[in-house]
Amino acid sequence: MEDFNGRTVLISGATRGIGQAISRRFLEAGAQIIGVYAGNNEAARTFADNNQMFAAQIELLQCNVADEGQVTALFSRIEEKYPCLDILVNNAGIRRDAMLAMMSYHQWQDVLDTNLTGTFLMSKQAVRLMMSNKYGRIINITSPVAHLGFSGQANYAASKAGQVALTKTLAKEVARKKITVNCVSPGFISTDFITDLNADLLAEYKKMVPMRRFGTAEEVADAVLFLASNRAAYISGTVLEVSGGL
Ligand code: NDP
Repeated sequence: MEDFNGRTVLISGATRGIGQAISRRFLEAGAQIIGVYAGNNEAARTFADNNQMFAAQIELLQCNVADEGQVTALFSRIEEKYPCLDILVNNAGIRRDAMLAMMSYHQWQDVLDTNLTGTFLMSKQAVRLMMSNKYGRIINITSPVAHLGFSGQANYAASKAGQVALTKTLAKEVARKKITVNCVSPGFISTDFITDLNADLLAEYKKMVPMRRFGTAEEVADAVLFLASNRAAYISGTVLEVSGGL
């Protein structure tokens, strides 16, 4: 595993699911992490308890990534406290599924706000810091739904496709500053994100996966750490799927 000692990593949705696995991998690799979460304080406490041996490397902050004021305040704090920001992982995401004809304006807007606008707001601030440092890695967690489309997920699919388009565009804009921007696209991963789906649907989804199993958050985290590493210095604007061959 690459040594991330001396690197500062900002991870959204850091205390549950895929984000907690990404956080853990960076901690094990020696990084300082700033972990952002929406409001589940109990999950944040559990994360801190489970990672007590890395306490000096962890700062956990509540911040709604969809709120421009809160993101601006978050970055003021980061600028005050840390010499630079090396890596940003835009992992925070939500689902509000409904068939399009039945989808409320709020179901549409909440998902776009968190998944896509959140990625925009966090990346805009991060790029400002990374440009002056002439180094950076941005990794956005998208989904294969972005190009496959799934019934009931027009809002989610649009937000994830938007993240891919943002990634490819930003990658071109910042390439000369030695900043790379990529996506990791997990297939079905066993986290709270999919546990509310009914058992029949989950069984159906499992059959769709050529490897006939759901992935783990750790398998996604490994792909993120690779794209964040020095070995991935010439990779930018891509989407790395971690989906069991979906
Ligand atoms: P979880 O529901 O397990 O965790 C989501 C995390 O995002 C939580 O930490 C939550 O904070 C945080 N979050 C949600 N909204 C906001 C917000 N507005 N501001 C800040 N943080 C927020 O999801 P997963 O770990 O499964 O998913 C992580 C990412 O992976 C998402 O982008 C998702 O779309 C993507 N993905 C997941 C797949 C899966 O099968 N699990 C498949 C493909 C993609 P809090 O704990 O406070 O609620």
